[in-house]
Amino acid sequence: MSPPGLLVDPFAFARENREISESRPVDSFDRLADAVLETDGTLSFTVRGWRDADGKSWLQLELTGALVLRCQRCLEALTWPVAVSSLFLLVREDAELPDEGLEEDAWDTLPVGKRLDLLQVIEDEALLALPFAPRHDECSAPSGADGGEDTSPFAGLAILRKPEGRG
Ligand SMILES: [Zn+2]
Repeated sequence: MSPPGLLVDPFAFARENREISESRPVDSFDRLADAVLETDGTLSFTVRGWRDADGKSWLQLELTGALVLRCQRCLEALTWPVAVSSLFLLVREDAELPDEGLEEDAWDTLPVGKRLDLLQVIEDEALLALPFAPRHDECSAPSGADGGEDTSPFAGLAILRKPEGRG
């Protein structure tokens, strides 16, 4: 079963101050699933839209979760916490990009059409955030663990799932 995308009208999304918060399994993102060692786990995201006083449309993306990558030092599984926060200025894909402001660090320009699959944006951001060479802080194997099953890479998930009060 292929999960549907999350199609929105991006400018209406911003105009109506809409907000979406969902979680999706990692294996529902095809490209991301190819990039990780194991496809267990979920990504949680919040997308918020608004228009500013200048009439510009913005999307704020917050992405959290955990991905299982391969440690480049010991080649074992490494749980890598995802924490992405991205701000996008929406521009019409058929409009000319403004020359100014493209170098802004605080946000990216996102050319969009009438429909935007938020899941694609989320997957892009997750892929961009992947470390080039992930490594454990300490690779030493746990002593006395013969099966290794008690050192689940998801031991940290319970912590990550706790909602943070930031905002
Ligand atoms: Zn390692």
